[in-house]
Amino acid sequence: MKYQIPKGLFDIIANAKEGFKEIDKWQYLESVIKKLAKDYNFEEIRVPIFEKTELFLRGVGASSDIAAKELYTFLDKAKRSMSLRPEGTASVMRAFIENNLAQEKKVHKLYYMGPMFRYDRPQKGRYRQHHQFGIEVIGEKSCEIDVEIIDMLMSLFTRLGLKDLKLLINSIGDFETRACYKKALIDFLKPNFEDLSEDSQVRFNKNPMRILDSKDERDKKILKNAPSILDFLSPAAKDRFESLLNFLDKLNIKYEVDNKLVRGLDYYDDTVFEVVTQKLGAQNSLGGGGRYNSLLKSLGGPDLPGIGFACGLERILQTMIDNDVYFPKKEGPFVYIIPIGKDAKEFSLILAKDLRHHKIAVDMDFNAKKIQKSLGLANKLRAKNALIIADHEMQKKIASFKNLERREQKEIKFEDLKNFIKNKFYKV
Ligand code: AMP
Repeated sequence: MKYQIPKGLFDIIANAKEGFKEIDKWQYLESVIKKLAKDYNFEEIRVPIFEKTELFLRGVGASSDIAAKELYTFLDKAKRSMSLRPEGTASVMRAFIENNLAQEKKVHKLYYMGPMFRYDRPQKGRYRQHHQFGIEVIGEKSCEIDVEIIDMLMSLFTRLGLKDLKLLINSIGDFETRACYKKALIDFLKPNFEDLSEDSQVRFNKNPMRILDSKDERDKKILKNAPSILDFLSPAAKDRFESLLNFLDKLNIKYEVDNKLVRGLDYYDDTVFEVVTQKLGAQNSLGGGGRYNSLLKSLGGPDLPGIGFACGLERILQTMIDNDVYFPKKEGPFVYIIPIGKDAKEFSLILAKDLRHHKIAVDMDFNAKKIQKSLGLANKLRAKNALIIADHEMQKKIASFKNLERREQKEIKFEDLKNFIKNKFYKV
């Protein structure tokens, strides 16, 4: 029987055929993200891969696509309904409440990174397991923090060398705003109901604002003349949005106001934003987020405001590849030992252990027979140096140390080998 990976999933390996599945690229991206989080003073939080299903139904919002049809749900052995996490926010909120983090300090800046699961039709840029980097700020209502995290997201893309991205921004106001707007939107859509897509007809009854999110061309055509939520903002929400745009100007962050941006999830209010690229086709959203002032309370926690964003690592890597951005080359071992013959192998094994104890990266060709072939392997591994211990040199107790970059070779006595390599390594 031939085992195959389930549909919509992929392995991340060295030298993958499709660039974005290559492990070196992931490790680089993750290192940039960790440094970014440090620079903006965010602490990492690790939450489980699955939770009780009701958390996601409540946290993500029952009318969202994620809850309605994309959850990976299963019964555990005790017949409790569990779901693989489709996003990070609900779990982070649950952990925040359960660990009583509100007691510790006023403002919490948390980040997470890891796999998310959505049962959706797989296509380019859309997978059943994908990975997100996300942040949540809990306990801070001021609009400065909204600007800070937008700056953080844009900084990530700048650090990665991505250009030509578009930051879309909108305000969906407070509860009052949305109540008035929903009414106006329903009045506008009612005469067009029959022409709406099936999905949007369902949304019409459940959460009409989600129709604005539709990618369906029929819906888009109808929506062209829809009322704008920005005309319905309450004075407080309007002030807040204007200040936000002002700050973005001051920080020289370019944006486009998109009055149809509401984002997929149900829990947002005020600021919502999304970063899109022209290059990924239909799945063009690299990341996005928004403010959620009532989410924590609705999950049984303290009445604290929050804001966050999440971005998809697969799409970011693909965009980096499409834009030909620079990925640093992975470093190979410092020394690649090539022992020819049984005695040489034993000697090399001991030497390798010694060098590794000094934190020097070493690899060894256990099957070495022909020096040229092994040197080819060393180059492939991007080793900096090769150490050739040939059978006939065992008697003379001499090894050849070859700098593979400069192509220089030197003979070293066994007794001097360890110090010679250590000196070379620590001088580099
Ligand atoms: P969302 O929670 O839907 O806003 O997702 C946040 C980000 O994760 C999106 O902007 C995408 O970059 C990425 N993303 C969401 N769903 C998928 C998926 N099925 N496959 C790959 N990336 C995804």
